[in-house]
Amino acid sequence: MSDGRPETQRMGLGVSPGIAFGRAYLIGRDTMKAPRHHVEADDIDEEIARLHKAIAASDKQLAKIKLKLASENESDYHIITAHQLMLHDEHLVGAAIEYIKTELINAEWGLRRAVDDITRVFDTIEDPYLRERRSDVEFVFERVLRNLLGRETGPLQPPPDAIVVAYDLSPADTAQLHKAAVAGLITDAGGKTSHTAIIARAHEIPAVVALEDITERVETDDLLMIDGSSGLVIINPSAATVGTYRDEQRRQVAAGAKLHAMRALPATTRDDVEIRLLANIDGTDELDDALEYGAMGVGLYRTEYLMMQADALPDEETHYRAAVKVLEKMSGRSATIRTFDLGSDKLAKFLTDADLDEANPALGLRSIRLCLAPIGRPLFDAQMRGLLRASAHGPLKIMFPMISGVAELRAVRVIVDQLMADLRAEGKPFDDHVKLGIMIEMPSAALTADLLAAECDFFSIGTNDLIQYTMAVDRVNEYVSHLYEPLHPALLRLLGSVARAAADANIPVTVCGEMAGDPLIAPVLIGLGLRELSMSAVSVPEVKATTRRTSAVDAALLVTAILKVATAAEVRALAVAYHASLFVGDENGGKGPA
Ligand code: PEP
Ligand code: MG
Repeated sequence: MSDGRPETQRMGLGVSPGIAFGRAYLIGRDTMKAPRHHVEADDIDEEIARLHKAIAASDKQLAKIKLKLASENESDYHIITAHQLMLHDEHLVGAAIEYIKTELINAEWGLRRAVDDITRVFDTIEDPYLRERRSDVEFVFERVLRNLLGRETGPLQPPPDAIVVAYDLSPADTAQLHKAAVAGLITDAGGKTSHTAIIARAHEIPAVVALEDITERVETDDLLMIDGSSGLVIINPSAATVGTYRDEQRRQVAAGAKLHAMRALPATTRDDVEIRLLANIDGTDELDDALEYGAMGVGLYRTEYLMMQADALPDEETHYRAAVKVLEKMSGRSATIRTFDLGSDKLAKFLTDADLDEANPALGLRSIRLCLAPIGRPLFDAQMRGLLRASAHGPLKIMFPMISGVAELRAVRVIVDQLMADLRAEGKPFDDHVKLGIMIEMPSAALTADLLAAECDFFSIGTNDLIQYTMAVDRVNEYVSHLYEPLHPALLRLLGSVARAAADANIPVTVCGEMAGDPLIAPVLIGLGLRELSMSAVSVPEVKATTRRTSAVDAALLVTAILKVATAAEVRALAVAYHASLFVGDENGGKGPA
């Protein structure tokens, strides 16, 4: 069982529940770490050709960047020229090829070895300036590595039932790793709302992130046990450990089946307040699951996955067909489609590094900003035309992500009005009164929610980003994931004021970030006045079990107490106590607190 190697344990952040056993499958795509594997002698030429191709692509990208810099920044221009020279330096390329040939290793690892040899020399240099040039070598290495690991390398194909081990996974990569294909995912990097986590939850793949150095501790084919709830990863578990966790796995599956049986019941509270639980989906293939788990509709369709997974950019027809499919499947239930939210950690093939070379992508040209910029505008127009035409088929709700305030909302509406006028002139039908809403996911929007409410039809609070921007915590950075706190008093105040602004303007408001799917937090959201929660379909039954035991009056009292305490830890303690009280006395009918 343990392959002769001792059992070891690592603790990370459990982000998608469930226990999984499987053989490790290490991948390095879209990471800054070089994957390491041996190649057959017959494949050496191919590895060397890959290296040359990646170097040529890197050279081309640097040339493009240089062109932009030529008139602006002379010293950077020279540094990039130096980087281009490095790309062709025999000490680097020649040495990497030598490693590939003599050690029968892949191009990425050959290059890593050659870079290590060079940087070791830099480390011995006394002059601090020259010593720091080591980072230039790393910079060049990272660029070539990115190209070696580029998306054109084809889909990931881990063996079925493998546990994928990676430094990090791009959202497009994670989306390919459907539950049928892999047993679990574990990564060095990431946080609770990184897209790896979100997609893993949607596909019910147990996942643990923020393990820091798991890619260095695990080798391909090691036996792994992962617990996506607690964050525990056991490498080479003993027979006794496997036995214990297999029992726990069976217990969890049985509990899941019980929750699933509730899917036809409403999520109404004990005091008859209707709570609407909706599903977040990344593709139309998740619509059946949404209904299966008892969601009352789609609260968020992340359409950017249409762009991240496709080889060709989706055109108006593709958007039209996807939206019509959602409407048909939902047949009158909520169907909220978000226009594409690309940029930052969600990149599409059409956006290469060279297009968007930003120091702070999360604060950069992402989401609606990208749609309004020349580079994204044609895609946005095509999507909007498709969505507007689909609105003729049912009660479609269209929402715009990352709106910063009224001016940006108005800029979007000018475009929408123009596209509507075009469709009218072309005689193409659409719903003149289609609902147009916005995501509240920046403090600037939350703080002006009253102004925004006057100019749109609905709100959806994207807490994943709202937490990120309120707390200044990168949602995918494992070093600060402990600071990413949904129950921080600052966030709860923002949520409360957005809920009030929506109520005052009489417009609906949904919460569609990951915290909406956390049963511990649901009573807090209800107490803040929120009545619509949108989450991964698989979370619906558990949240429903909680809402059905909650009373809206008690939840409001809970929030009154919560708003008096000063730290997230104190808020959490109150939320935990309340949630536990709901399930006390299951033996006498589970009526919850008196
Ligand atoms: C959010 O930010 O909460 C959200 C739902 O959008 P995404 O996670 O896709 O950024
Ligand atoms: Mg968001």
